[in-house]
Amino acid sequence: MFARAMQSASHPIVAQVVPIRRCNLDCAYCNEYDKTSAPVPLAVMLRRIDRLGELGAAIITLSGGEPTLHPDLDAIIRRIRQRGAIATLITNGLLLTPERIRALNRAGLDYLQISIDNLQPDDVSKKSLRVLERKLEWMARYAEFEVTINSVLGAGVRHPEDALAIGRRARGLGFTSTVGILHDHSGQLQPLAPEHKKVYEQFRRLQNGLFSFAHFDHFQDNIARGLPNDWHCRAGGRFLYICEDGLVHYCSQQRGRPGIPLEEYTVDDIRREAARPKECAPFCTISCVHQTAMLDEFRERPRETVAAILDRRRALDPQFRPPALVNALSWMFLDPRRRGFFGKWLAAMLGSKDGMRLQR
Ligand code: SF4
Ligand code: SF4
Repeated sequence: MFARAMQSASHPIVAQVVPIRRCNLDCAYCNEYDKTSAPVPLAVMLRRIDRLGELGAAIITLSGGEPTLHPDLDAIIRRIRQRGAIATLITNGLLLTPERIRALNRAGLDYLQISIDNLQPDDVSKKSLRVLERKLEWMARYAEFEVTINSVLGAGVRHPEDALAIGRRARGLGFTSTVGILHDHSGQLQPLAPEHKKVYEQFRRLQNGLFSFAHFDHFQDNIARGLPNDWHCRAGGRFLYICEDGLVHYCSQQRGRPGIPLEEYTVDDIRREAARPKECAPFCTISCVHQTAMLDEFRERPRETVAAILDRRRALDPQFRPPALVNALSWMFLDPRRRGFFGKWLAAMLGSKDGMRLQR
């Protein structure tokens, strides 16, 4: 994914696809589900995956609604892998069983994310550690894919300290943990209350990897402080949201724009929409789109971006020394001439059939 992202800006880094809009929960803050929709037929889903493969999507994420309600989920994941993309799944986890987890292994799932909102279920959310604890233990035992547990802070979260307990439990089971800040119904920022801010700071210190987004995601820090971010959102280009009707949207919170059928979406659409300024960007909280923007920042201004990452890491830990791999990657990718060569080489090593095509 990294090699592809470095090679070219004319393909999506992440495409989030909705195979079913229906959900088996009804979280009070959510505007992304209904209770009635049928699953998108398998043949239609496979055509959409193929089209995203043709456009060069590096990561294809299945979300919803609740994607595990789709009866052909494993076939869709297999097709994503056959198209050479990384297969990821965002789920509420309720339907996970040992057999379901083994089936996801067999299908080739790379990565799974569950959001857990509280320790005990309440009228806002039933995505609770108490409800999901056994599912997490099963994943720790059986999953061959990476697991991230996302907890939340912000408006509507009654017990911010729960986020920390959830993060600690996730790490105790060997998973990655992140914290998200809830957006309002237009994807916009709600500044954190003081007790939420305190938990956010403690959560940041749980993360100790160099590439933990909690360390270098200055977007997230600004969001926590209620400050606008100065960034360029490349949704519609580097990030696509494909709804159940097969239309391309900027993201889950900006549906209807551009609203073009995926079948008709072209490289020209990708370039035009990625370049278009989005007025919702300063107070946006959609972290996955921020993260794709960081890869482009690295692509366009590698020296400044790496220096900022290392500075932020050292601010938390003055003894920090970058691992040898980071030094090697810096040498390979900071120089524009070497970057083209090593990007192509890395894509070939990783089995990307699109290595040459993506040079455009
Ligand atoms: S589980 Fe996810 S999709 Fe379903 S209502 Fe809750 S937040 Fe929305
Ligand atoms: S800035 Fe981009 S990701 Fe955020 S709400 Fe607007 S279109 Fe969506």
